[in-house]
Amino acid sequence: MKQKPKILIVGSGIVGASIALSCLNLGAYVIVLEQEKLGGAASSNSFGWINASFAESPAYFDLRNAAVDAFRDLRAEIKLNDSVRWQGTLWWEESGDDLMNQFNNLVDRGYAAKLLNKNEIQRLEPNLKDVPKAAIFTPLEGAAEADRVALAMLSKLTDGGGRVISGCKAIGLKFKKGRVSGVETNIGEISCDIVVLATGAAAENGMMGIDWNLPMQNKKGLIVQTPPVRDLINHVLMTNDIHFKQNVDGTLTAGEIFSGDLDENIVALDLASDILSRISRKLYLSARLVPSNIKIGTRPVPIDGFPVVGDLDNYKGVFVAVMHSGVTLAPLIGRLLASEILETSKSPLLKAFRPNRFLN
Ligand SMILES: Cc1cc2nc3c(=O)[nH]c(=O)nc-3n(C[C@H](O)[C@H](O)[C@H](O)COP(=O)(O)OP(=O)(O)OC[C@H]3O[C@@H](n4cnc5c(N)ncnc54)[C@H](O)[C@@H]3O)c2cc1C
Repeated sequence: MKQKPKILIVGSGIVGASIALSCLNLGAYVIVLEQEKLGGAASSNSFGWINASFAESPAYFDLRNAAVDAFRDLRAEIKLNDSVRWQGTLWWEESGDDLMNQFNNLVDRGYAAKLLNKNEIQRLEPNLKDVPKAAIFTPLEGAAEADRVALAMLSKLTDGGGRVISGCKAIGLKFKKGRVSGVETNIGEISCDIVVLATGAAAENGMMGIDWNLPMQNKKGLIVQTPPVRDLINHVLMTNDIHFKQNVDGTLTAGEIFSGDLDENIVALDLASDILSRISRKLYLSARLVPSNIKIGTRPVPIDGFPVVGDLDNYKGVFVAVMHSGVTLAPLIGRLLASEILETSKSPLLKAFRPNRFLN
């Protein structure tokens, strides 16, 4: 009998976990290595909006659109009732012509989107006090608590015979006869047939043993959470001055761009209370909103803004998967990359997103 290929995945965020589970499903022996918190750094600090509303190129739209479907299909494989909602989005970050342009753009791409007037918005969101004149409703979108999804995937992986090693930092890659043969870590060398670097923002640091590091423009973001509140909103709300969602457990999560050059703790506290004030002005509330958790996360953003997925030329057996919007993309990327690694079938959906575009 042919031996199972042994695959090491570096990084336990939603992207690494998804690739790991898909590789296990295709018959590989899989080990996930994580240096810090299981469930991933960015994935633990993410807003988690699952969408294809924003895509700077047709190829990226196709990828994101397929990814939303793949995320939905995940329900058949893993129980995600406590970490994913498919509530749809109401979007009014812009108004007037800009909102119309965004709407027309979505319709041209064949995306499920509807333009709503004030009355229609109010009917969908009765607790909204500050109702805009118009909003775009994208009913097929959702939102996830990405670290919980990653942990559910890792749990399924270990149930199926895979392994997860925490406190394990990959330091360098080892090669024999031009093929990857192992990963040097802080706990010793671990042998492998294939390695996948799903290291998120840390991809810019590269890895010893390969002359390759990913140029990144990582960006900070702030996430504020509240304790559970009564049923307040029914959709992901992307408003003119704040975006927020209500999770399955009733907590609210809001996100904001964060410029962390100043004292992070002071700025984060001020910004968090400002965010909650902005939400409070938008809603009919029976009690004051308070933060239960304030988190600063780093978005892993490759320099050109697009995902980087696939094998590395010159380094046989080495694959990379680094991206922003990794929450939206992870379930699809997992499936596509696993079938590329184990069945050598390359998806046209990934053609525009290969690592080789950064080779000199
Ligand atoms: C504030 C914020 C808001 C966001 N909003 C959205 C959104 O609304 N929708 C969306 O789709 N995406 C969003 N994102 C982006 C999304 O969260 C990320 O793209 C996604 O979580 C990336 O997952 P990952 O598994 O690649 O990375 P991570 O979750 O960061 O996991 C990578 C892991 O690799 C580990 N690692 C790195 N190097 C090593 C090493 N040498 N050895 C061992 N382990 C290593 C790290 O410790 C880390 O845990 C947001 C991100 C942030 C921060």
